[in-house]
Amino acid sequence: MKILVTGGAGYIGSHTVVELQNEGYDVVVIDNLSNSCEKSIERVEKITGKKVPFYKCDILDREKLSEIMDKENFDACIHFAGLKAVGESVQKPWEYYENNIAGTLTLVDVMRKHNVKNIIFSSSATIYGDPAFIPITEECPKGVCTNPYGWTKSMLEQVLTDIQKADPEWNVILLRYFNPIGAHKSGTIGENPNGIPNNLMPYITQTAVGKRDHLTIFGNDYDTHDGTGVRDYIHVVDLARGHVKALAKIKEKAGLKIYNLGTGTGYSVLDIVKNFEEATGVKVPYEIGPRRPGDIATCYASAKKAYDELGWKAEYGIKEMCADSWNWQKNNPNGYED
Ligand code: NAD
Ligand code: UDP
Repeated sequence: MKILVTGGAGYIGSHTVVELQNEGYDVVVIDNLSNSCEKSIERVEKITGKKVPFYKCDILDREKLSEIMDKENFDACIHFAGLKAVGESVQKPWEYYENNIAGTLTLVDVMRKHNVKNIIFSSSATIYGDPAFIPITEECPKGVCTNPYGWTKSMLEQVLTDIQKADPEWNVILLRYFNPIGAHKSGTIGENPNGIPNNLMPYITQTAVGKRDHLTIFGNDYDTHDGTGVRDYIHVVDLARGHVKALAKIKEKAGLKIYNLGTGTGYSVLDIVKNFEEATGVKVPYEIGPRRPGDIATCYASAKKAYDELGWKAEYGIKEMCADSWNWQKNNPNGYED
């Protein structure tokens, strides 16, 4: 099977390309490199020992997408390309709706014109809003998102659902990721945020490596076991393998399917700091600050459906996630710039 991976130079995409190549899939990456660089692709090639055909291409560029699809005969697309910074999306909603929604509409249109009607889409637990119940099953109603980024995911789920309904030749798999952290065991690919990280783990690793003074914990007065926010952290390699498993559903022509990709376990911010320190032996200085607007107290998955239907479950525990995040950060203090 030949797989088009959009956004394959990014954090989750690069790890997924490794797992796909390891499983013998033919992979072609397109990425506009707006939040990544080609070095990640070179490093993937070093890990797998295989060439990764790459096109620098924007998913909004209909003509170029068409040329690529004329040339390559894709069986399916794993669609990671998108802008993902929550805070930035509040400042630049138009850019987020344009890039994520218009980009996906263009991609899907070019796909159907080339009779490629199989897509795995990167969705997010953020679509549950403040979840109606915990652990969150796929039946949990979609909620009110607190930022334009979240709305792009929620809206695109609806767009792809409707497209599949109208044309049952489509196979659409919506994967709702919880909180990906960690890095490939080689320590050569990993998360490489631009500027000051928004997410917890890159902030912790940058603090540990001395690039940041201290971590600010956003609130310790939530209704959780220690007052800090609880999330479902998942190793990015486990997440990547979830995509490989999802391809089996595409082969079965399963129509529309939705899966949470999480571990089913919640850890608080203080739990993460403690586990990071124990796993790495490095101290993380922190201060307690105010709550971050839009944050919720608790978010973790029921991972049962993905296990029952895909035979997938997360294998890595929290200590390994912390150790692997650190291994990437300390070997590459400036990300791919080293
Ligand atoms: P990332 O920014 O590392 O990767 C996204 C890639 O898409 C980047 O390489 C970027 O250059 C590329 N891209 C963006 N817009 C593009 C466009 N118009 N045309 C072509 N390429 C484009 O992010 P990631 O963490 O690897 O996330 C991958 C996907 O998973 C995204 O859709 C993201 O929203 C989703 N997701 C991420 C998380 C997370 O916490 N990392 C959680 C839930 C969902
Ligand atoms: N968090 C924090 N300090 C930071 C970044 C995040 O205390 O510098 C907390 C945040 O409030 C949340 C958890 O860490 O409870 C995970 O936040 P992240 O932004 O990584 O993921 P999301 O909020 O999208 O689940």
